Amino acid sequence: PIDPNRNNYVRRVHKCIFSCVSPTPFTSEVRLIAVSEDVLENLLDLAVSVGATDEFLQFVSGRDFTGWRPLAHRYGGHQFGVWAGQLGDGRAHLVGTYINRFGERWELQLKGSGRTPYSRDGDGRAVLRSSVREFLCSEAMHHLGIPTSRAASLVVSDDAVWRDQFYNGNLRKERGAMILRVAKSWFRIGSLEILARSGEFELLRNLADFIITNHFPSINSKDPNRTLAFFSIVVSETASLVALWMSVGFAHGVCNTDNFSLLSITIDYGPFGFMESYDADYVPNTSDDEGRYRIGNQANAAMFNLNKLRLALNPLLDARQQQLATQVLEGFPGLYYQRFTELFRSKLGMLGENDLDLTLISSFLDLMASAKADFTMSFRQLSEISLDELQSLTIPQEYWALQDISRQNNFPAWVDAYILRLKRNLEDTDAKRRRRMMLINPRYILRNWMAESAVRKAESNDFSEVHLLQKTLGRPFHTQKMAEEAGYSQRTPAWARHLKVSCSS
Ligand code: AMP
Ligand code: MG
Ligand code: MG
Repeated sequence: PIDPNRNNYVRRVHKCIFSCVSPTPFTSEVRLIAVSEDVLENLLDLAVSVGATDEFLQFVSGRDFTGWRPLAHRYGGHQFGVWAGQLGDGRAHLVGTYINRFGERWELQLKGSGRTPYSRDGDGRAVLRSSVREFLCSEAMHHLGIPTSRAASLVVSDDAVWRDQFYNGNLRKERGAMILRVAKSWFRIGSLEILARSGEFELLRNLADFIITNHFPSINSKDPNRTLAFFSIVVSETASLVALWMSVGFAHGVCNTDNFSLLSITIDYGPFGFMESYDADYVPNTSDDEGRYRIGNQANAAMFNLNKLRLALNPLLDARQQQLATQVLEGFPGLYYQRFTELFRSKLGMLGENDLDLTLISSFLDLMASAKADFTMSFRQLSEISLDELQSLTIPQEYWALQDISRQNNFPAWVDAYILRLKRNLEDTDAKRRRRMMLINPRYILRNWMAESAVRKAESNDFSEVHLLQKTLGRPFHTQKMAEEAGYSQRTPAWARHLKVSCSS
């Protein structure tokens, strides 16, 4: 057993991939705020009623691990372009792996569960504010159809956790929270980078092979080109993931290599944000002064990260394979634009392919940008409005985002070109188009103001809005009465126009 008070507890760790270390439970009472019924039932084979038991609460608050062997994973990463050395898991514990009734393997991880050898100068905790945001957003992303880690439960305590939210010297007392997160794997680019950097090539080979064997069934694990095949898949799946982020206006906020999954799922929800007014320069994280991770730069950031992965894998590749890996990486922009175009073509309801599609897409985005129109609702309202109404150019009030766009001079020309394009498909009807578009253009996303409002209430023990958001975002494509009453498809309320989100969590 490691004594957390010993000086060498938090340290640089060498020659391993995990350290055995147990969660540190909170000292005060804990309370279960929310569970994801979908995760419980469909990933973990648990009846929802189990979520209400004391045994479950003990488990998800880091108190009872009888029969499990918690670990902290050793990884490093490039933060904001610079190699930052050993980074984590500084406040997360891999509790274990669960194989469910479908034969799927799920890794259970607690976050906010106390210090580990990788905590550096951190306290190993997570506050309620950021835990509510992660819990809601990771589940919301899943229901939007975007690969992501999941969240099973959210627990709050009365343990004090001190945070300087805006790095201005004002420490605020917040409450510690813990979430149980679930993913097929938590390995990141930084998991391999740290081994390559420290010259631990045997471990690097072992870990890469473990990941390939367990998570990339299409690759023959004896193939001498397996590492290259693995790299190709990560490149193309990451291109898909970032294109999917763009299709819902999601800005991750901290696209460091330690936050980029080797399974190309969205992980590590911190100062993320959904873009409201369309703006390619939207930066969700107020600590990102240079806008390195602005929404329109995410594909570049991903390519930077994939290049770091390529370099980390180089010790496992011969000269010819290294050259091929470089070519694979050069294919990233093409893959990304292909996926981006496919997604936005569908968002506009266009069937088949046409040379002018990219022009139609980009001119719609340009109209949105100059009108500062709401990204989500522009696409949603274009899905809801009939082509007759659109063609008449007198947009009803209920389509407020489209109304904003319709004031632009180029709008009538765009509408003409759009309708002409739709009419190329003779078997298509307007009703079919609307149905199709409404199934991919969400009406509800987790806007910052919605998360903020739920957090403020949660901080005074009112969890009703966490629950309402959870319910709403579980069916983002379906109009829901309570969500409408809460204004979730309306313009951002005045009080929330200048909300800020920082890295502090
Ligand atoms: P992030 O920028 O959120 O990806 O965090 C970078 C690293 O810092 C992660 O690997 C975390 O494990 C670690 N970290 C963040 N906050 C804390 C904390 N309060 N205590 C210990 N480690 C932390
Ligand atoms: Mg991280
Ligand atoms: Mg984080």
